[in-house]
Amino acid sequence: MISVFGSANMDLVAYVTQAPKPGETITGRAFRTIPGGKGANQAIAAARAGGRVAFLGAVGDDAFGPGLRAALAGAGVDTSGVRTVPGPSGVAHIVVQDDGDNSIIVVPGANGALTGPSAEDAETIGRSRALLLQLELPMEAVVAAARLAGAVTGAVTGAEVILTPAPAVPLPAELLAAVGVIVPNEHEAAVLTGRDDPRDALEALLELVPEAVVTLGARGALYGSRDGVRLHEPAVPVRAVDTTAAGDTFAGALAVARTEGLGPERALRFASAAAALSVRREGASTSMPHRPDIDRLVR
Ligand code: ADP
Repeated sequence: MISVFGSANMDLVAYVTQAPKPGETITGRAFRTIPGGKGANQAIAAARAGGRVAFLGAVGDDAFGPGLRAALAGAGVDTSGVRTVPGPSGVAHIVVQDDGDNSIIVVPGANGALTGPSAEDAETIGRSRALLLQLELPMEAVVAAARLAGAVTGAVTGAEVILTPAPAVPLPAELLAAVGVIVPNEHEAAVLTGRDDPRDALEALLELVPEAVVTLGARGALYGSRDGVRLHEPAVPVRAVDTTAAGDTFAGALAVARTEGLGPERALRFASAAAALSVRREGASTSMPHRPDIDRLVR
């Protein structure tokens, strides 16, 4: 099983020719509300990619809460670990340009109320082979979840912690100590390491954690491990319509591949195929591919 301890947001998405500059008002082409948040996105991506997935998180008691739960459950994600807290759900205001580029404002809402995993969450994480984390929850909550998995890792079975360091903020040592694989995009990798060249950033990340993947958008992804493995997986060429959740799709699929025991090269290829399929369609969770489509592309 794969646990995801993370954010659930309702994405409020405006599709425009070009994003407005400060002070400017423009007319958009379309508007959609789409369940998202990096945590929920990764959970849905992993479930669609064939994983058995539990999402651990919080929604508000507003109109968006039930929609967020339903989206997770609809993808086959176990939502018994989702609590409803007073106040608004997390929301993300997203602007998608015609060229596929996007800009995002996240307002945490209920996600900000999480201080750490509950006793039930701890039990679920203890039964998992992977724990997917991102940084859209309070840092103390993320650290507490990571340490829980890290503590179990000392025993025979434990959840491997796969961290997407987004948004990119300084990472506490106790978090890094529990991380097995870090999966930043190239901008996050540069902020975290101070190295603009993604290959240099990858080397710097390997001084912090045992394995790292730096995603490079349409240029693919770099992988490195402390064992000395270095790989570059080119992106699958597709016409990009909306890259909103490419990284989340990549991370969710990567977790599935790793829990199925695939080696780095095949896991990277599987994740790249899933991510490429997701950028061909508009939306975040709505654009994520199902297992048969990924398998067809990998073959
Ligand atoms: P994020 O969404 O976190 O910014 P990236 O943009 O680096 O992450 O994308 C993550 C992965 O998605 C890439 O490593 C690549 O495999 C895939 N991907 C992203 N953009 C494209 C694209 N235009 N064409 C094909 N694959 C893409």
